[in-house]
Amino acid sequence: MSEALANLLNETRQFPPPPGLAANANVTGEAYAAADVDRLAFWEQQARRLAWATQWDRVLDWSEPPFARWYVGGQLNVAYNCLDRHVEAGRGERVAIHWEGEPGDVRTITYAELHRLTCQAANALTDLGVTAGDRVAIYLPMVPEAAVAMLACARIGATHSVVFGGFSADALTNRIQDAAAKVVITADGGYRRGRPSALKPTVDEAVSNCPSVEHVLVVRRTGEEVAWSGKDRWWHETVERAPVEHQAVAFDAEHPLFILYTSGTTARPKGILHTTGGYLTQASYTMHAVFDLKPDTDVYWCTADVGWVTGHSYIVYGPLSNGATQVMYEGTPDTPHRGRFWEIVDKYRVTILYTAPTLIRTMMKWGEDIPAGFELSSLRLLGSVGEPINPEAWMWYRQHVGRGELPIVDTWWQTETGAIMISPLPGVTHAKPGSAMTPLPGINGDVVDDQGQPVPNGGGGYLVVREPWPSMLRTIWGDDNRFVETYWSRFGAGAGAGDDWVYFAGDGAKKDDDGHIWLLGRVDDVMLVSGHNISTTEVESALVSHPSVAEAAVVGATDPTTGQAIVAFAIPRGSTETGGTAGARLIADLRDHVARTLGPIAKPRQILLVPELPKTRSGKIMRRLLRDVAENRSLGDVTTLQDSSVMDLISAGMGTGK
Ligand code: ATP
Ligand code: MG
Repeated sequence: MSEALANLLNETRQFPPPPGLAANANVTGEAYAAADVDRLAFWEQQARRLAWATQWDRVLDWSEPPFARWYVGGQLNVAYNCLDRHVEAGRGERVAIHWEGEPGDVRTITYAELHRLTCQAANALTDLGVTAGDRVAIYLPMVPEAAVAMLACARIGATHSVVFGGFSADALTNRIQDAAAKVVITADGGYRRGRPSALKPTVDEAVSNCPSVEHVLVVRRTGEEVAWSGKDRWWHETVERAPVEHQAVAFDAEHPLFILYTSGTTARPKGILHTTGGYLTQASYTMHAVFDLKPDTDVYWCTADVGWVTGHSYIVYGPLSNGATQVMYEGTPDTPHRGRFWEIVDKYRVTILYTAPTLIRTMMKWGEDIPAGFELSSLRLLGSVGEPINPEAWMWYRQHVGRGELPIVDTWWQTETGAIMISPLPGVTHAKPGSAMTPLPGINGDVVDDQGQPVPNGGGGYLVVREPWPSMLRTIWGDDNRFVETYWSRFGAGAGAGDDWVYFAGDGAKKDDDGHIWLLGRVDDVMLVSGHNISTTEVESALVSHPSVAEAAVVGATDPTTGQAIVAFAIPRGSTETGGTAGARLIADLRDHVARTLGPIAKPRQILLVPELPKTRSGKIMRRLLRDVAENRSLGDVTTLQDSSVMDLISAGMGTGK
């Protein structure tokens, strides 16, 4: 960015916590003060929420930045913390997972059972020759065995690498090879959109190019025919026959817990490495603080897939380390009908719901009648993650899912940060729709300009983190240089300026007049229009604030007069008329609406009404492809797209949308 990001959107609505929640909140405003007084003592205190076999000698070793070591000398077992200690405390009969398959089959798994299954899987893996430090790839649908497999690896000190079940054989091959995984855990398939969807053939193809793989463990889920090789073993014939006794040994706080490849929205995937003590401390604390989890009474549901970091930290490690009862759902939100999510909330009396803006905007598009048809009164707290949430989507979520009264925590974090970094605290923060608000206690986040100087309130720039945090990535697997270059060489010591190391997140952000933080999308997506840096997020939010728009994506296309010009793609809401003159009128109206909301500089040159937007498999808008369309180029790499036919629909509409 050549100058600060323009600060265009002005949002003044603000919602205090419900008094009942504030009065009983797990974490109060005092946490900020405590962390300010002594940040490391604060993180020591949070680590004590876990069971350690050996205490640490030092909270943080930052003597070789940017390589951090947290809880130096401490030892613990992650699976023990997620399972055994709850069972030992007499809570073995508590439900850990209410699992709902897409076809409607259910499983109810208590902590005692999850513990038993994990012990069996740990024994089976050990039998297959897996030892501490080995890598295990996990390529599964959303079945309970995914959590069991991860916990079993953690239990024996094997480093797991979960690969999202929607990825291709190539993507799987690259990830298995990069980590030299010894075992792959997969399934015959899973259910998606009402049909069995095979996984095993993809694994067979990948494994044929991966000599490191010695064994493949296969969960039977769909019962469909699969090819079989000498490396393959059925899960039910090995794990489920293995001994149920397993003694967990403790590992060093810096023992590698998992590798997770970032989704590749912007570049070649990076194998993000997380370790044991610091990761679990922050995943566990943020679950307790941000979701105000009361394990005795809450029923929590995170709709992410375990293949993403959200599934790691807020389906497996965060909830289970806190002894939560949660829902896990295998399938898609519109199978067999568009009310499936709300039906699940109603059925299990879900109290805390954590989902993504893409889903909220999809629900907006489908219309509020759908959630209105279900009993959602059990809900008490809502969360959002994955992309900036547009203020109107936030309002819709609060209104139509949250009865107009529930707090929403918009949580900013990344695969790299391991756990939530910037978010409201539900019992403390007076939240503004669309803002992630402030860094959590113990996190030193900031927004800086080109020179790395903090921007004043009202200014925009780059989101950074100034001091190491417990769940930070430790490196990129096998590539320390890329780690230093990607995250630590933009500002501060890594860039040859000052003594302090500054983490560059790659996201644009602004501080409003009260100093609250607004995420403005990826730095790579920022548009430069007539010398002004304009955020895609703000223009998209302005479009979504129009009553006829459910979802929008905005890109900067090369323009002879303005450098870049704003081209917008908008999905109309429910029954909006979009043909002929009605469509042309709507487009003219939308352009004016953006100009009125943000100022004339942000008026799109062109708006296209489209039925769908290109999204990554984790549901994020892929603006790179829309830029190709807007600049009349042939499309770049579409392999990480959720549905590649979407691009044909959009390209076909180009030229009619002026
Ligand atoms: P890649 O790094 O490979 O391009 P990715 O960034 O999509 O993939 P993740 O680590 O899952 O992979 O996503 C983190 C990013 O998602 C953040 O950097 C940010 O751009 C966005 N994000 C996540 N949560 C929020 C939020 N609450 N508000 C705004 N943006 C968010
Ligand atoms: Mg990223």
